[in-house]
Amino acid sequence: MLKIKKRNHTVYPIIVPVSYSLKSINFYLYQSGDTLALIDAGLNNEECWNALLETLKANEFSLQDITQILLTHHHVDHVGLVDRIVSEHPIPVYAHPYSIPRLKRERDFMERRVEFFATLYKEADCGEAGETQVRYLKNALQKNEKKAMQTDVHSFDQARMDLEIMEVPGHAPDQVSFFHAETGLLFGGDLLIQHISSNALAEPDFEGRRQRSLLQHMESMKKAGSLEPTTVYSGHGEIIHNAPALVETRLMEIEEKADKLKHLINEGVMTANALAKTYYEKRYSTQFPLVMSEIIGHLDYLEAKERVGKEKQAGVWHYHLT
Ligand SMILES: [Zn+2]
Repeated sequence: MLKIKKRNHTVYPIIVPVSYSLKSINFYLYQSGDTLALIDAGLNNEECWNALLETLKANEFSLQDITQILLTHHHVDHVGLVDRIVSEHPIPVYAHPYSIPRLKRERDFMERRVEFFATLYKEADCGEAGETQVRYLKNALQKNEKKAMQTDVHSFDQARMDLEIMEVPGHAPDQVSFFHAETGLLFGGDLLIQHISSNALAEPDFEGRRQRSLLQHMESMKKAGSLEPTTVYSGHGEIIHNAPALVETRLMEIEEKADKLKHLINEGVMTANALAKTYYEKRYSTQFPLVMSEIIGHLDYLEAKERVGKEKQAGVWHYHLT
């Protein structure tokens, strides 16, 4: 129970600068009534740990005052400190049910996930680059087994909180945002980032089926924009005060990129792999999984809009204009 003065709907951001394109790793303390929730848990490093302790101290809290941890999604830069916090101060941790096999690195699921990427890259005609990535994932499977989260993770229905949980898949299949309607506060995870577009990553669902991640991401952004939140507490970069306009910008960028791909298809570039190489050039080899997600996502969008069609030839999807 909190001993300090009660404040409602008060957010204490924990911002940890990084030198790469994300600019910062952000997570948040959210105080309401007699709860003090930690929303996301940074990276598992000293910078994030110290930033957490400093933010607590600066606001006259201690680690022992945190009542629960809420996770927006399973990515390593959002869950890093969970085990360390809970080992010092046992509190419940809540996440979407889809987070659990990923956080716990459940063997069956993780193997299905590797198979998913093997098929995805084969059908996209990725050849050697795809095989290399699948080999990397297979090695990581064993190497990272000990990185599985030790802490038990519960689904949100057991949590005591005044935040509404919104499923916002796309960037990750398990991503949620937390919304407080009265004040217009939205904890967005990586749904919206002020200075860069968030990636809609290719991922399977629990059964190993491919999700249309970019289409999901677009729907999720629209859903968040339509709430007209006053403030979006983002997982990276600056805190966002113009969410509806930012959503419009991001949707327009997707439209523009899809249009460029359509032109390439018209010029005879027909497979996802060929499109990725042509469109991304150097980044194709340096950021292979990311660029494949982008290309496949935008092809899904063009397909959904019936601007392109596809047919399988020798096990590979070939795209054409409709
Ligand atoms: Zn993420």
